[in-house]
Amino acid sequence: MTKLIYEKSVEGRRGVIFDDDVEFPHSLPEELLRSSQAELPEVSELDTVRHFTELSHKNFSVDGNFFPLGSCTMKYNPKITEFAAGFEGFRNLHPHSVNVSEEGIQGVLEIIYSLEKMLCVITGMDEASLQPMAGAQGELTGMLIARKYHEKKGNRKNHVIVPDTSHGTNPASASMANFRVVTVKTSSAGIMDFKDFKNKINSETAAVMLTAPNTLGIFNPEIEKIARLARKMDALLYCDGANMNALLGKVRPGRIGFDMIHINLHKTFGAPHGGGGPGSGPVCVRRKLKEFLPGPVVKKKNGSFSISDSRKGSIGYLSTFFGNFSVLVKAYAYILLSGSDGLTEVSEKAVLNANYLKETLKEFYEIPYSGRCMHEFVFSAGRQAEKGVSAVDIAKYLIEKGFHPPTVYFPLIVKEAMMIEPTETESRQTLDRFASAMKKASRLSETDPRYLKKMPLNSPVGRLDEARAAKELKVVFKK
Ligand SMILES: *Cc1c(COP(=O)(O)O)cnc(C)c1O
Repeated sequence: MTKLIYEKSVEGRRGVIFDDDVEFPHSLPEELLRSSQAELPEVSELDTVRHFTELSHKNFSVDGNFFPLGSCTMKYNPKITEFAAGFEGFRNLHPHSVNVSEEGIQGVLEIIYSLEKMLCVITGMDEASLQPMAGAQGELTGMLIARKYHEKKGNRKNHVIVPDTSHGTNPASASMANFRVVTVKTSSAGIMDFKDFKNKINSETAAVMLTAPNTLGIFNPEIEKIARLARKMDALLYCDGANMNALLGKVRPGRIGFDMIHINLHKTFGAPHGGGGPGSGPVCVRRKLKEFLPGPVVKKKNGSFSISDSRKGSIGYLSTFFGNFSVLVKAYAYILLSGSDGLTEVSEKAVLNANYLKETLKEFYEIPYSGRCMHEFVFSAGRQAEKGVSAVDIAKYLIEKGFHPPTVYFPLIVKEAMMIEPTETESRQTLDRFASAMKKASRLSETDPRYLKKMPLNSPVGRLDEARAAKELKVVFKK
């Protein structure tokens, strides 16, 4: 167990010793000044460095280990995108700074302008807004656009259709935009049940939200048929494109009937995520919806760029200025570095890696929706559950073996679900090591299920009440 830094404290020990007569300049008012000494740990510089280095090693990260967390695309993000985002001209720029003028930030505006154009080419859409700061905020943007679009046309709409496999943010976003959520079930092929959909869509449907590929890792071959029916009802077809790494260079959602899409720059386009941000979930739309997009617009005229607030029918601002600019720079750098061939290779490798793992493991785990998968797939630990071993037990065993567990218990329609997304950046050797741990877990469920219940043995913490641990964080040291 790691000692807290206060427990390493030895009275009188110092890391830095200041001369008694050093004065620290400050501009704090008298009443805010400390009247007694702060109770700080007394440690040497070396002990401090060791303490924080030790703590940093307890963080689980893509840079440290394999992280096949389904739907989250925890892939390796090249450090060069961080480097680009750290350029002084980007890092030190502040929109409210007195010396910022349009002429002085032409490069910044060009990045925004070009990134929007590139994302439109990739998604097959006509116009984009980079404002939303997360995938979920992109969805909310889409639902607010749907509301405004129908209001303007005088349509009476009250609900949004969402399949039962959707990411939880989909119904939440529809509901935040004041729509009722109508759920459609999944067919035995693992896609939205067309018959159920046909029964539920009507003239009061404002939008249909589809995840492509869906959270079972399956690409729905009926999207064009769904789009035709949606158009007949004047319902907008929204694509949750958080998992674009299955489609890059292969499918352009705008060309197969989708009206709008959000993409996660922090999953697909070279920006890291986790720990709450920063993220970016741009929304790209077809021409008929562009007036509703949020935020300011960068215009290009005679080779120079300017900012305008010209969208008359806009839903308003979703965030300040142009969203999380540093993430936009990372995505811009990633796209330019990859090129169109590179982006196509991303999706080819993501799909290849997922199918390789699935085929390697399919005799060990039940696969409720079989066939070729896209960038991820979902196993059920149903067979292991018969021996008393749950998906959580397997997840904890994987932690013991140095892997991040897959997403478990989602999608909700698969019992003991384990959703595995290897991503395109992993090598065959890493996939083989992971497959071998998964096979061992399955064998142990037969031979020694009680051993799996004890997992993990060597991690900093064992089995937590996860809901409580997140809500009742204890971050204060008490003697
Ligand atoms: C990650 C994800 C989201 C939400 O994105 P955030 O940036 O976490 O808000 C939505 N839908 C799907 C399918 C996702 O994988």
